[in-house]
Amino acid sequence: MSLEHPLLAGVGLAHGFGTRSDTPPAGLRRPRQVHGARVVSAEECDAEVEADGVVARRPGASGRIAIGVVTADCVPVLAAAADAAAVAALHAGWRGLAAGILGVGIDALRRESSGAPLRAVIGPYIGPCCYEVDEPVVDAMRYFDADLDAALRASRPGHWWLDLGLLARAALRRAGLADEAIGHFDDACTSCGEERFHSFRRDGRRSGRLVHWIAASGPGAP
Ligand SMILES: [Zn+2]
Repeated sequence: MSLEHPLLAGVGLAHGFGTRSDTPPAGLRRPRQVHGARVVSAEECDAEVEADGVVARRPGASGRIAIGVVTADCVPVLAAAADAAAVAALHAGWRGLAAGILGVGIDALRRESSGAPLRAVIGPYIGPCCYEVDEPVVDAMRYFDADLDAALRASRPGHWWLDLGLLARAALRRAGLADEAIGHFDDACTSCGEERFHSFRRDGRRSGRLVHWIAASGPGAP
């Protein structure tokens, strides 16, 4: 079963954060992810397009557009306008966070929206219990300043446990979201949660991918 969050379900948005056992909807529009900060519209998105985020505006009549990203430890973010007029799916690993993917994604979502406040949910990712990084990763995150300090805990010399989700939350706040408009899941470390999640750190090259999706639906959609 995929995971749903009340911040999105509460405004009638069909969505799912992937687990090992669920099947994503057919016709999902997903880009070819490259750990960058490019966000494309659903119309221009296909499996050949290099990007790490997709935005979609609510189609007319009974249309429905589902967009998505895949992860195996990185942070997935599904976001939407509170009136459900536009949605976004974003992929944020440490490289994407350093490149500013979440700010770019929220700006793109805002352009597709009609002025309603935005909300976002941080999906399952590798938690600070399991995600140890070294100096180059920390250096790439320096612009998070005090938010970086809060997300780090020293492990052994030259290494730290990093909470990518805290950085994602900081990036979403900086992009203008209220803290209460940002959701997450407790106890959802992809590496600890072997029964529910795929994890690249844990499983290496044989790891599968989790598929996360959100749909924009027209007023007459079933
Ligand atoms: Zn863990």
